[in-house]
Amino acid sequence: MLIGSPPKPAPEGQPFAFGVIADPHLAVTLPDREERLRTALACCADAECAFAVICGDVFENWDERCIHTLRRALQEEFGRAVGLVPGNHDVGNKPGLAGQITQEARMRWVDAFGGDRWSFDYAGRRYIGINNVLLGSGLPAEEEQNAWLEEQLTTGAVVFAHYPFFLQKPDEPRQEYWTVDEPARSRFLDTATRHGVAAVFTGHLHRDRRVVLDGRIHATTPATSFSCDPDPTLVGYRIVRASAQGLSDEMHRLPPGVYNPPQAG
Ligand SMILES: [Zn+2]
Repeated sequence: MLIGSPPKPAPEGQPFAFGVIADPHLAVTLPDREERLRTALACCADAECAFAVICGDVFENWDERCIHTLRRALQEEFGRAVGLVPGNHDVGNKPGLAGQITQEARMRWVDAFGGDRWSFDYAGRRYIGINNVLLGSGLPAEEEQNAWLEEQLTTGAVVFAHYPFFLQKPDEPRQEYWTVDEPARSRFLDTATRHGVAAVFTGHLHRDRRVVLDGRIHATTPATSFSCDPDPTLVGYRIVRASAQGLSDEMHRLPPGVYNPPQAG
């Protein structure tokens, strides 16, 4: 949900920036994870982002103590509105995998943050966060969210979620762990095309990835916690600039020395 005060209104048509952060995987036993989230938030503040969104896996495992850690980091390093969407480490895996999402796990998140979907308008564009771990679960919240999304979507909207809907192309084979399964994938992409969604920002891969499909950006931002990229040092965040001309996004690495990955072997 949105934490902090809503972003200060920007004059319509004026360019501005927002930040995308992914997969901080906070854990009380791993204080370096908090440090890297703080660094990414501080970088977003330096880039004068009006708001930021964290695209899931906020926690390594659900732990009430980490909620306080998160709120303090957001306040101290950023102090502006931050949208959260849940990831599989927060509310359970996608349907069909061991440890899949349950209503009980979902409600822990909803109770802590006030909801697992949200939307707001800013400078003439709508921003929407969804819980796409739900897709394919058959939980009542899945259809509720689908109906809500139909109502919320507007031309040029930006959507934030945890799981990428695909890696390279929508008709690629099913990915066991990494992406949303059919038929939910096609349903979402059809809906996004019909409504003229401008961009979909996700996490989960712990890699940097960007595909433009039907003029719509599908970008996955690297984690701040650790890398699953061939480059083990890849940790970063994304700055998106919005103007009357559209959106432009750029991945940034965290500053050198902030992350020292474990040595292989
Ligand atoms: Zn993750």
